Amino acid sequence: MKKNDTFVVTIEDMGVNGEGIGKYEGMTFFIKDAVVGDEILAGVTKLKKGYGYARMIEVLRPSDRRVEPACAVARQCGGCQMQTLRYDVQLQLKERKVRDNLRRIGGFSEELLQRVMEPVVGMEEPFRYRNKAQFPVGYDKNGEIVFGFYAARSHRVIPVDDCLLGVEENGLILSQIKEYMQQCGVKPYDEVTGKGLLRHVLIRKGFHSGQLMVCLVVNGKELPQEDVLIENLQSIEGMHSISININTANTNRILGDEVRLLWGEPCITDDICRVQEEKTYSGQFIATGEKVSFEISPKSFYQVNPVQTEKLYSLALEYAGLTGEEIVWDLYCGIGTISLFLAKAAKHVYGVEIVPEAIADARRNALNNHMDNVTFYVGKAEEVVTAWVESRENSEGCTSPDVIVVDPPRKGCDEKCLQTMVQVAPKRIVYVSCDSATLSRDLKYLVEHGYGLERVRPVDQFCHSMHVECVVLLTKTS
Ligand code: SAH
Repeated sequence: MKKNDTFVVTIEDMGVNGEGIGKYEGMTFFIKDAVVGDEILAGVTKLKKGYGYARMIEVLRPSDRRVEPACAVARQCGGCQMQTLRYDVQLQLKERKVRDNLRRIGGFSEELLQRVMEPVVGMEEPFRYRNKAQFPVGYDKNGEIVFGFYAARSHRVIPVDDCLLGVEENGLILSQIKEYMQQCGVKPYDEVTGKGLLRHVLIRKGFHSGQLMVCLVVNGKELPQEDVLIENLQSIEGMHSISININTANTNRILGDEVRLLWGEPCITDDICRVQEEKTYSGQFIATGEKVSFEISPKSFYQVNPVQTEKLYSLALEYAGLTGEEIVWDLYCGIGTISLFLAKAAKHVYGVEIVPEAIADARRNALNNHMDNVTFYVGKAEEVVTAWVESRENSEGCTSPDVIVVDPPRKGCDEKCLQTMVQVAPKRIVYVSCDSATLSRDLKYLVEHGYGLERVRPVDQFCHSMHVECVVLLTKTS
């Protein structure tokens, strides 16, 4: 076989990036856009020893697991890898990905996994779930201003009037901005020449509060006739904050350092509510009435799927098994979302996070929620906790944790952090993870050092992509 050869193949499986996998003449092919069960015509794009890559030219016989993508540009846009796959099958795939990693990397037996793995938590309505969108601005081939998304692995803007993962207001906001740009002669920024003014539009919405925030990322200090822009946007229901972010650097980073408020408040507010799974009908989560509120600025980190975040954190809280008496460490705490959520049910929570601005947000959020049983520290988790342990050995009164919660970035926990966790020996460890491979590696370490794997639950935070979050409970065995 050689490049551009075509062949007919039946897709037998799906890979970790949502691509179809099929075999032809003893070779395994990875084929983007193909769905398990499809019979397709494929064209070879790359050959390696024993395997290769191909593109899908035509679906000859569609799989019963294939669905019409809800979004017209699903294939060109890099955002969703699996919109053509039935949602229940997406969830099965994610569950399997977690299970495979736990077995392969974590070394856990199938028998144990059978016992500890709980059903993946999906969304009832897996669209319009994102509370944040960042649209690049450009021109289409007719010279018309367009907002959209970068095509996969490129910086070409694909016009998308309405991304179905985002909120409905996005379309209205963008059309108001476009009208303003046309009226006031504002040009989209061009990455190649460095000319043009408007780079990106950042939109955030508080799902509970209904508040909207618009931040225009500008290649300069100001926009012409800002009053026209404000006029256009402020009439939109829920508009709460309009600002510009100054980014004149030739960089891939979307946001620059400086934000200037044009209208309204500098932040929007949103709540994270505790929810509980209805035991009679699995999959349904009901609000309990308990909540914590958060202030979100254009630059704050905040989970992007608020509906699933509530489920994830509520499960983390359930796994933590708090009675009000516990000392809890929340490592990699960000703006303190989990810390504050846990603090309602704990004696004291100590949060650690490396980004100083996030800790400033966390402290403000603690004040706003009238919580005085949380303390936040800036620093690397592995360094801060080791220092705590060392000082405890020298001084009396510093209490060790009953529960440790960790929510590290994709690369997982630093080994030194795991070592210290094992050394302080909390009764329970709750591990929230966005990467089941590094999760499995870290769990292996913890299990080799006196912890037992009790519960694992995947949560679908990013429907139609292959990403999957997980919450895990470990308890001290000896
Ligand atoms: N629990 C938070 C944030 C989780 S994201 C939430 O749900 O909102 C992971 C966080 O870990 C990020 O905020 C990142 O800045 C932080 N981080 C990365 N490396 C770290 C380290 N070595 N020590 C402490 N925090 C770190």
